[in-house]
Amino acid sequence: MKPIIGITTFEEQSKGYHTVKSTYINAVFAAGGIPINIPIIKDEEDYETYVNLVDGIIFTGGLDISPLTYGENPVKEINLMSSRRDEYELGLFKKVYEMKKPILGICRGSQLMNVALGGSLYQDINTQVQEALGHAPKSMEADEFFHWINIERNSQLYEIFGKDKIQVNSFHHQAIKELGKDLKVIALSEDGIIEGIQGTKEGFVLGVQFHPEALSPRYPEYLKIFEELITASKKNKSS
Ligand code: MN
Repeated sequence: MKPIIGITTFEEQSKGYHTVKSTYINAVFAAGGIPINIPIIKDEEDYETYVNLVDGIIFTGGLDISPLTYGENPVKEINLMSSRRDEYELGLFKKVYEMKKPILGICRGSQLMNVALGGSLYQDINTQVQEALGHAPKSMEADEFFHWINIERNSQLYEIFGKDKIQVNSFHHQAIKELGKDLKVIALSEDGIIEGIQGTKEGFVLGVQFHPEALSPRYPEYLKIFEELITASKKNKSS
């Protein structure tokens, strides 16, 4: 049986949708998993029910995470936030982490993992990181490479790509600042922005600041990130 992969979504209240980009869903199918979209959950008990349903989970990209979640007030460059989504994903993370199911965080998802484990974020790298290079090109296709990242040798990303540096896309103005508990940095861009993290304990806990789901149709190498999640989820299912 193929493993079931939960995918976090967001609520477009004005349109009345629970939604997520189809590239995440397509990547899970392409890598051999069965995707399930998880709507915004309000009831504590329902978190556990959803986490029991899935063999692994993807925390997806999206809006800024509210700095209130890590004890700061917003800088003026913060624009879109959703406390509903923050609450839901932080609650879901807590459960899925406790239950030791494989976790992949993408962009906002990687930042979410960090905040959930007690870390903090640069609210806006352009104003808060001196000499930051470009990370948020406007009007660029999602499957275009934008910058290099350097990968640590002893890491899941090195196991996946077998390379010290790769090119990635980049659509973020926030980034990880102080690292959360039981996480390590596994990839950096030239300007020192954290582009990859993984858990230091046993189990699959991987976060990337770029968007492999958008790159993989054009560059199949990037699908391997999803294949690794699915392999780990299969193992988890059978053990
Ligand atoms: Mn970047």
